[in-house]
Amino acid sequence: MAKIKKKVKTIKVDADKCNGCRGCELVCSAYHSSPKYSTINPARSRIQIIRHPLKDIWLPVFAGEYAPAECMGRDVYTIDGKEYDECTFCRAACPSRDIFKEPDSGLPLKCDMCESDPPLEKPKCVEWCLNDVLTYEEREEEVEEGVEMEEVEVGLKSMINKYGMQNILDTVNRISQKQ
Ligand code: SF4
Ligand code: SF4
Repeated sequence: MAKIKKKVKTIKVDADKCNGCRGCELVCSAYHSSPKYSTINPARSRIQIIRHPLKDIWLPVFAGEYAPAECMGRDVYTIDGKEYDECTFCRAACPSRDIFKEPDSGLPLKCDMCESDPPLEKPKCVEWCLNDVLTYEEREEEVEEGVEMEEVEVGLKSMINKYGMQNILDTVNRISQKQ
């Protein structure tokens, strides 16, 4: 299979600097509203701050892949004497919890790195985090052509199984009419 160059975008998280201000959630939800900046609703954000103020834990987590079933087991991490609850580091939109789901349709949300045309210099959450928690980097990697579309197809099939084709089509139709 032919190799192609792929741009890999990374956001590094220095969690110790996060104070839980939730500015990243606000700007993400505003940027992804239709039209852009028309509403602010942190429940629609693709970044969520996991908060445990009594344990001094403020952890930014980015929405990742959709998972049609919840894990069979759970993990608990202790780092620097702080115990993190089960699922804290998980990025999946899954049936076991409410985060990373669009509040109206229930469809999963996923961080798209603020893809736009023309491209942004840096994603909105990075730009608006005033505590330098988030750092954006880009690099190029060689990947096999076609692999990405296979991943899209697997994700789409899972979503159709879970939410039904009509719900997906209705949501796409609603979003496209607002563009
Ligand atoms: S904007 Fe920065 S400091 Fe505020 S919650 Fe988000 S990551 Fe933490
Ligand atoms: S990179 Fe963009 S889409 Fe992803 S969490 Fe940040 S603001 Fe939201």
